[in-house]
Amino acid sequence: MNPPRAGIDYPRSVGEFQAWFRTDGDCLDFLEWLRWPTGFACPDCGHYGGWRLGDGRFMCSGCGGRTSVTAGTIFDRTRTPLTVWFTACWLFATGKDGISALSLKRTLEIGSYQTAWAMLHRLRSVLVRPGRDRLAGAVEVDETYIGGYESGLPGGRAPGKKVIVGIAVEIHEPRGIGRCRMRPLADISATSLHAFVKDHVEPGARVITDAWQGYRGLEKLGYVHDRRSQRAVRARGEDPGKLLPATHRVASLAKRWLLGTHQGSVDRAHLASYLDEFVFRFNRRRSRSRGMVFYRLLELAVAHAPVRYEGLIAAKRPRAAPPTPPSARGHPPSLERPPANRPWRAAGLSYSV
Ligand SMILES: [Zn+2]
Repeated sequence: MNPPRAGIDYPRSVGEFQAWFRTDGDCLDFLEWLRWPTGFACPDCGHYGGWRLGDGRFMCSGCGGRTSVTAGTIFDRTRTPLTVWFTACWLFATGKDGISALSLKRTLEIGSYQTAWAMLHRLRSVLVRPGRDRLAGAVEVDETYIGGYESGLPGGRAPGKKVIVGIAVEIHEPRGIGRCRMRPLADISATSLHAFVKDHVEPGARVITDAWQGYRGLEKLGYVHDRRSQRAVRARGEDPGKLLPATHRVASLAKRWLLGTHQGSVDRAHLASYLDEFVFRFNRRRSRSRGMVFYRLLELAVAHAPVRYEGLIAAKRPRAAPPTPPSARGHPPSLERPPANRPWRAAGLSYSV
């Protein structure tokens, strides 16, 4: 598949974003083009071909089934207009630190905190592509403790408990950091740590860890194990904190992001999905264009099965929003732009037939 083209397949700037997606219809057409680039394919029977019904849905010419562009995606049965969804996706994908539910609610004037919260969680849930590559080359692996921010808050909340999180980071010699992976772990036993390494690191890679016994036996799993002893580092008079500098750096960035953008309001039940978001953005930090990241996010979203609100809150309800300070409602600046005539369609016409 050809890489998406700037200015044709994805907007290069916020101005272009606004010019392309002026109406909910523009957004729906973009999703249709992303989902069925070569024309309608029936999600029920796999048949290619069908026709558009008066209500905008499609009817399969094979099985006669009816479906919509958003059915079976994370936008399934949404009551939020697609222009709002697209703007949320743009902010999520292009912001250096993403966006909190509270900021999203205020920025897009979304009626409730819960709606904004659930939108962001739906986006987080699509970020881990099934069958994505594992890390390769030289990979530092370590654990860190995240959480415990909630104690001392008014309202008698139970003190937050820290969660053990596994971190794997590719390192480029002599210096430099590649991609990373993070996931909460049940404990720091060999069982948990070996499973974490197997899930996230390609066999044959050089895995660099500290001397913790839970990492013993990685050679038997097909890795080259580079075990670094803190004691040896201390004996050489070096800083033991520098033993695994890449994991140390990534862990502190993740913690700073959770405390900054999300003000430490992340609960245990949802930590994994926040870490997915951090990893998604971190691994695309050198992407040539933020618009490309937006495109990748929508591509994942239309390929992902629906995520129900009940599923998101199965473990825990979102925290009630802090009170919004009263403010005068002024007139927001216009978002109108001249029409761009859907360039993703126009480009296809020039070399079709
Ligand atoms: Zn069909």
